[in-house]
Amino acid sequence: MGTFSIINKYDTQSKCIEYLESLRWKNGVFCPHCGVLDHYTKRKQTNIYHCNDCNQDFSVMVGTIFEHSRLPLPKWFFIIMLMLEAKKGISSSQLCRNAEVSYKTAWLAAMRIRCAMIEDIELSGTIEGDETYVGGKPKKNYLNDNSNTQLSQIAEDPTKLNISNNKRGRGTSKAKIAGMVERKGRVILKLMDTFSTATMLAMLKRNVDTTKSTVMTDEAKFYNKFEDYVDHFVIKHKEEYVNGKIHTNTIEGFWSIVKAGIKGQYRVLSKKYLPFYLAEFAYRYNRRDEHKLIFEDFIEDAVSEEKCMIYYKPIADPREMTNKLTTQQKKLAEKNEHNMEGRILRLQKLEPVKKVYKKRTKKNKKKAA
Ligand SMILES: [Zn+2]
Repeated sequence: MGTFSIINKYDTQSKCIEYLESLRWKNGVFCPHCGVLDHYTKRKQTNIYHCNDCNQDFSVMVGTIFEHSRLPLPKWFFIIMLMLEAKKGISSSQLCRNAEVSYKTAWLAAMRIRCAMIEDIELSGTIEGDETYVGGKPKKNYLNDNSNTQLSQIAEDPTKLNISNNKRGRGTSKAKIAGMVERKGRVILKLMDTFSTATMLAMLKRNVDTTKSTVMTDEAKFYNKFEDYVDHFVIKHKEEYVNGKIHTNTIEGFWSIVKAGIKGQYRVLSKKYLPFYLAEFAYRYNRRDEHKLIFEDFIEDAVSEEKCMIYYKPIADPREMTNKLTTQQKKLAEKNEHNMEGRILRLQKLEPVKKVYKKRTKKNKKKAA
């Protein structure tokens, strides 16, 4: 179904509610307060259910991104469609014009939609890792060029933009983002305080199945420990950008989508909410080939996820919500740790670890060439 058909099909509140109920309550109506299944009384002429166990009322929207919202669901659906279709992102001001709602309503809806886009993905296969700074560098002549001064700024507090601190490299106030992407596959992103061996390694361990993966990065020193965990190939950007199959072009292509989006659509972003925007970019990228089902998938995610907003506010700090260690990640990290020990043992039986790596790299370089 295309955008037009969906908008036409779900043009009233009750049709939308029916749709949400069919997705959320596939296995029966459950009470979101106490979890009891199929023990309810439906109030006549409404979408309100009464739980006969805990004596509380509920609707299908309780505990979802649609809870406590006065925005009619057809408009919600329309805004979701716009966001899913916008390859480079879409600003709240454009959403507010297109959906004919207030700016604040559009902003809040968009934030909740981004909350539902937060995913926990396990990567495997050939993976490229890289890091970047987002936030734009000040134009040299910014004092004379007012139109550009705020483009793509990312600020701790958007009301206090500090252009002088927006320099490149160390000491920058720009946001540090690390990413890993499967070739022809999915991407994960993390907003980081620092790029270090520890933070990068944590990202690898929590999100990559190291037994089934090969990782390519540039020569940055915080990737040094990767080779203890996974087959790790380094492309030396000082010398060359591609060496056969060893390159990081996929992730660099992805960075350019993110940067163009942030620059073109959002202008001023608050660093606090940046993780939500990153979740949005990753979500769309990860579904770039599934044109037909993406809307239904999204709605299913949106109603099945735990509550992520309470009374218009995220339940936790956006960074915590996107960076928290999930049960799945914990399990994977433990498995990877275990695999690392076995890996070191296997290698030590052959030769001291470092020599083996050198040989492996040379051999592969020849192969690739
Ligand atoms: Zn109940």
